[in-house]
Amino acid sequence: MNVTVVGAGIIGLSIAWRLVERGFDVTVLDSGEPGAWQVAAGMLAPGGESAFEQPALARLLEESNERWPAFAAELGVDVGYDDAGTLGLAMTADDLADAARVWTRQKLPLLRPSELRELEPALSPRVRAGVFAPAERQVDPRKVVAALRERLAGRIVAKRINALSEVDAETVVVAAGCGTAALTGLPVRPVKGQVLRLRGEPGLLRHVLDATVDGRHVYLVPRADGEIVVGATQEERTDWTVTAGGVHDLLHAAIELVPGLAEWELVETTVGHRPGTPDNAPLLGRLADDAPHAGSGSQVGSGSRVGSGRQVIVAAGHHRNGVLLAPITADLIAGLVDGEHDPLLEHFAPGRF
Ligand SMILES: Cc1cc2nc3c(=O)[nH]c(=O)nc-3n(C[C@H](O)[C@H](O)[C@H](O)COP(=O)(O)OP(=O)(O)OC[C@H]3O[C@@H](n4cnc5c(N)ncnc54)[C@H](O)[C@@H]3O)c2cc1C
Repeated sequence: MNVTVVGAGIIGLSIAWRLVERGFDVTVLDSGEPGAWQVAAGMLAPGGESAFEQPALARLLEESNERWPAFAAELGVDVGYDDAGTLGLAMTADDLADAARVWTRQKLPLLRPSELRELEPALSPRVRAGVFAPAERQVDPRKVVAALRERLAGRIVAKRINALSEVDAETVVVAAGCGTAALTGLPVRPVKGQVLRLRGEPGLLRHVLDATVDGRHVYLVPRADGEIVVGATQEERTDWTVTAGGVHDLLHAAIELVPGLAEWELVETTVGHRPGTPDNAPLLGRLADDAPHAGSGSQVGSGSRVGSGRQVIVAAGHHRNGVLLAPITADLIAGLVDGEHDPLLEHFAPGRF
């Protein structure tokens, strides 16, 4: 069976890879517009706040996190997978009150400042408290996408799709990130994030730092080669502007947390858009027949079937966790194309909107 995947971001490529492994004839179409993966920090952090309120999402995040070591190993090249773990940090008493709610639910024991500085000597003496989350790891999304592109050499075609009727395949998988809304009418909205990259001597930090600093959330993701990713703003905006305020807030929080960073080179300032959904959970599954969202905007015709016997499957709206969710999304969607149905998918059906 031939399958066309629309979107060569981390989700589309991961699905395409798994489909090729199952013997499908796969083509990936990509518009070349910047995807969220290009700026993403690559934190593999299943313990966020939204997960507590949604047990099915929590399970999806945790199961995907468990699949990451094998996924990274199977790619067969260095993708920056690093299991040193994450330090959650709070700078002030107010920051601690805020962070402690999440840490208590994660059942992580509180560490004193001296214990934290033993783990991470470059931390500011102002840091009031923190936790060590060993299961929260990191990967480099740029390396992952490069490795996936290598695996899919010859199958990726530069082409922007304006309507799904342009795609000629028995199965179409729409994995176009924020572009999914225009193709399907589903409620995927861009959530702007500004991200910085600093460069200096490797080894200043050993762990991912996920901190609240004077009321602002900031994370620092150190790579082995001396890059530190500092992120990220969260703005309900669609523009691509790097703002003075955004850069200021991120740098201020980063340097308050790790004063030594003041001497580092600022090598990159970028903007990306997280593909958000109304309930912060991804859209995974077939477009329902006669679904209202499959109407005029999408030109899909009668829902999941386009023309004779074609099906349309969606894998989008991964919001803040698309890197973390790539392995499980790829397995579930490739299985669905292959006629399998995992009950976990029911919670994420696009038809819920
Ligand atoms: C600032 C920031 C930080 C983040 N940090 C993390 C993190 O630490 N951990 C984590 O797990 N996630 C993180 N994310 C989220 C993650 O990047 C996304 O959830 C993920 O990239 C979504 O993958 P995707 O493949 O669906 O979309 P994208 O990565 O956006 O890729 C979509 C692709 O589809 C293509 N496309 C779009 N429309 C069309 C069309 N009409 N025709 C053809 N091609 C099309 C685009 O060109 C693009 O290549 C972050 C995101 C941002 C913005």
